[in-house]
Amino acid sequence: MAPANAVRAAAAAVVVGGLGLPASSRTFNVVNPSTGEVIAGVADRDAEYASEAVAAAEAAGRQWAARTPRQRADVLRQWYDLIIDHGEDIALLITREMGKPLAESRAEVSYGGDFVRWYAEEVVRPGGTVRDVPAGSATLLTRRAPVGLSVLITPWNFPLAMATRKIAPALAAGCPVVIKPAALTPLTTYYVVNLALLAGVPADLIQVVTTTDPSTFSQTVLRDPRVRKVSFTGSTYVGKLLLRLAADNVLRSSMELGGNAPLIVFDDADLERAVNGAYAAKMRNGGQSCIAANRIYVQDGIAEAFVEGLTEKMASVRLGDGLADHVDLGPLIDKHAVTGMHQIIDDAVARGATIRTGGQAIAGAGNFFPATVLDYVPADADAARNEIFGPIAAIQRFSDQAEVLERANATDFGLAGYVFTENLDRALNVADALDTGLVGINQGVPSNAAAPFGGTKQSGLGREGSSEGLDEYQEIRFYNVARRHTI
Ligand code: NAD
Repeated sequence: MAPANAVRAAAAAVVVGGLGLPASSRTFNVVNPSTGEVIAGVADRDAEYASEAVAAAEAAGRQWAARTPRQRADVLRQWYDLIIDHGEDIALLITREMGKPLAESRAEVSYGGDFVRWYAEEVVRPGGTVRDVPAGSATLLTRRAPVGLSVLITPWNFPLAMATRKIAPALAAGCPVVIKPAALTPLTTYYVVNLALLAGVPADLIQVVTTTDPSTFSQTVLRDPRVRKVSFTGSTYVGKLLLRLAADNVLRSSMELGGNAPLIVFDDADLERAVNGAYAAKMRNGGQSCIAANRIYVQDGIAEAFVEGLTEKMASVRLGDGLADHVDLGPLIDKHAVTGMHQIIDDAVARGATIRTGGQAIAGAGNFFPATVLDYVPADADAARNEIFGPIAAIQRFSDQAEVLERANATDFGLAGYVFTENLDRALNVADALDTGLVGINQGVPSNAAAPFGGTKQSGLGREGSSEGLDEYQEIRFYNVARRHTI
């Protein structure tokens, strides 16, 4: 492997030379959602290309699986270093193709890069077990083997982190991958995969397949007998389609799907902490996050002060091109999303909600929608039943704990929940009672590379991040060794 400095110099050349996009006779455009500017034309792949990608990855995977954990870890660590070295370029790219403010893109570089570092550190602790059967007649050795060729499908909202959260554990476990990024934001994936090659990941081990026809892609690759696993992040609707396809070949399946997170503020919460936490849980990524606070429940005694505090904060949000200085909120991903925000607001107001701030899209180019607060949102409004996926804080009031828990759990989703209270017993009891995969207690940004992220109910299957995220790419096998006690 080349020494770090040479590797980094070579990586800089790739950046200067552009994104290293592969040539193709058919392309589609990637557009900056702030300006409508076309950033790049990207290869629009067909079924034949997808099959070739599977074949190439599978061939490269045999040699990769044979490498020792330390060798794989060294390559991952090198990749992490390159991601951090090129953090500013990656952040710019994320902002240009996805729209979020540069400060948030930098935070995504740190968060997304951390998955690569974390798995570089984790994979050298392979963790098999030795145990005796109860009768003493045999010893069981458990071993972990790579699950095999993994198909990774990612959404547009975190173009870096959703890719590294899947690629890093797959590579750490010894699996080759075919990754299909969202057509809206494929450039960051190409960029970091180029860095992976420079870090020493063998050619062909990571295949990037970009396409405007995801359905043909999934029908092709998930029916291919060489594929052993699918890991998907995106909507529950598409997740169900993929699970049906995966059933035919009994593929290992990890699904990170939609959310409808309740955020509960009790009377005994620290007001400033609750307002700041709710703001972060709602507004990270412009509200376009699967763990965004979707239903904000505030207890009667603190409700007025909380709504005033949150409204003041939301009203001061500076909206604009994510590349401009002093911008807190970028555009929504596309025009459909803007229309969706209007529909959500109209529906809630028709059912009795009041608008405290925001509520109207900004005219002109781009897909800008202001930070909005809706108060007195009824439980049957769209805003309370479905994922908002935008900068609308939808507030409901409640009086007692049992009642709010029933309302919070009355959904088919179970990804994230939040609770704000200064009473530790209440915090833990409420967290236990929420039927979600994760709970933020007095804080609005619970994700971390060391956390086993994932949902209950229709929010998904499996976990990403942490050692549990590595399990998703490993088969556990056991050897039963017969024992003859001769001594
Ligand atoms: P989406 O389901 O429309 O698309 C996600 C990905 O699936 C994209 O790459 C898309 O091209 C692909 N896709 C669409 N149809 C497909 C098909 N038939 N076969 C194969 N691939 C297909 O979701 P989106 O709009 O990009 O992302 C938003 C959704 O993702 C929200 O519901 C959000 O909650 C969810 N999400 C979940 C998590 C999580 O970890 N749980 C994280 C981020 C986003």
